[in-house]
Amino acid sequence: MKKYSTGECDWSHGAPCDYDNGRPSHKLLGPCPDCGSPTYDYGGGWRCRAMYCNRSDSNPAPSVGKAPTWWDSNINVYLDGDSWCATHDGFINLQESDAGFGDTPQKAVDALLAICEERKEDE
Ligand SMILES: [Zn+2]
Repeated sequence: MKKYSTGECDWSHGAPCDYDNGRPSHKLLGPCPDCGSPTYDYGGGWRCRAMYCNRSDSNPAPSVGKAPTWWDSNINVYLDGDSWCATHDGFINLQESDAGFGDTPQKAVDALLAICEERKEDE
């Protein structure tokens, strides 16, 4: 089970949540691409658990977007000061390992993947 640790919250991908009569009615998914809060399965899609996030269940739209492809992968996102940082499993430090930064988790992941693409082109 992929573990997430965003600096604000720790949880595992697929962990049951929202118990109703002792039975879980939802499962936790990856960090919200906008705010980094835990998300959960919702109908055929997903929703963010943060109350004021545009991707929460108060958004009446049938879908809040595709589930990010980096959920349940070797990519980790966490808050670093005021920005989000994305790294791969096995991250050592900023000198030795790739890292992407952005003001949302999705932007940090995009920056990380762009760095990895550049590296591939250099080789
Ligand atoms: Zn959110």
